[in-house]
Amino acid sequence: MSLGKFGYYNPDKPLEDRITDIGPPHYEQFFPPIIKRNYGKWLYHEILEPGLIVHVSETGEKAYTVRVGGARLMSVQHIREICDIADKYCDGYVRWTTRNCIEFITDSEEKARELMKDLESRKFPKGSYKFPVGGTGCSITNIVHTQGWIHCHTPATDASGIVKSVHDALFDYFKTMKLPAKLRISLACCLNMCGAVHCSDIAILGVHRKPPMVDDEVLAKICEIPLVVAACPLGAIRPAKTEDGRKTVRVNQDRCMFCGNCYTMCAAMPLADKEGDGVAILAGGKISNRKTPPKFSKVIVPYIPNEPPRWPKVVDTIKKIVEVYAKDARKYERLGEWAERIGWEKFFEKTGIPFTEKSLDDYRLAYDTYRTTTHFKYTEHVWQLAKALEEAE
Ligand code: SF4
Ligand code: SF4
Repeated sequence: MSLGKFGYYNPDKPLEDRITDIGPPHYEQFFPPIIKRNYGKWLYHEILEPGLIVHVSETGEKAYTVRVGGARLMSVQHIREICDIADKYCDGYVRWTTRNCIEFITDSEEKARELMKDLESRKFPKGSYKFPVGGTGCSITNIVHTQGWIHCHTPATDASGIVKSVHDALFDYFKTMKLPAKLRISLACCLNMCGAVHCSDIAILGVHRKPPMVDDEVLAKICEIPLVVAACPLGAIRPAKTEDGRKTVRVNQDRCMFCGNCYTMCAAMPLADKEGDGVAILAGGKISNRKTPPKFSKVIVPYIPNEPPRWPKVVDTIKKIVEVYAKDARKYERLGEWAERIGWEKFFEKTGIPFTEKSLDDYRLAYDTYRTTTHFKYTEHVWQLAKALEEAE
């Protein structure tokens, strides 16, 4: 591990010992003391109960981690409260997981259990948990999501609102570990997918269904036309002139895939539309290499209209999938593995989702990526090769 060159930060001398001022400070500075002392020495970990994990080191030390559901958007008061809790129980150390869970690490089980009791007792005025403990093992951990209507410019649906509605309906699966395996749900509010929903057990994806509108009045005044033309990944935009000779662009609607890239470059080409925008649901993806290779999620519901504030159809559809999976899958079987074992035909039958010509749309470059996995089969050919090598030695 580097000790100095790569980002140790001294606020009095910000450039001291730095070969670059780009990037975050080295993570080692932020390790809780127990993690620093045992770095590289961990033997194993166990989940003692939902939300409580113990890591055991070869030095005999044990680190107890309490995992808590977080939110993608947090108020300053909420973050201050998290910091106060970290000061009280963890010497000021706290960490966030990639799924926006908050983890408090302590050096004794007693402290961890006291902390859990404290966390569970903190409620919002209406009675909901401020810091729900859970999200470990065979559960639905925090649902990750992108920015949604609140922040980004190209969303086809909201992010925080829809995720809150779905997770409220599935909250019991966050607090327990009764699913056959872990279940990851993610949301991206447009198909640029900065939420990486292409490999989640269940994915909610905002979809536009109409091409951008072109505002001829202002386009030439506020947009770089060559830039807009170059921005389209499908070459669907060409320069044009209006009848009265003003510069503008035209969109080949048959080519457009409604990605919104042109709108990123040019505010005169909006594509958000009340009737066109909505949500698609995908299922069966995973990143893990365990048991079976990683899988892309597949389209199972091509379109559900936006229904704020509680998105009832999206919630009902996802709840049904989770309930059928929980009942029907074998222990340790991820959702995609279960669907492949019983057959996708059965998946549609059991979940009651109609099968259409738009379902099961797979990644278009799947053929190129089939062999990028570390998994392989011990075929007769491989056994023969291994035998020949053995004999040659
Ligand atoms: Fe913006 Fe798309 Fe990311 Fe949503 S998924 S935040 S719309 S880029
Ligand atoms: Fe091209 Fe995407 Fe704009 Fe359609 S929405 S014109 S595909 S950049």
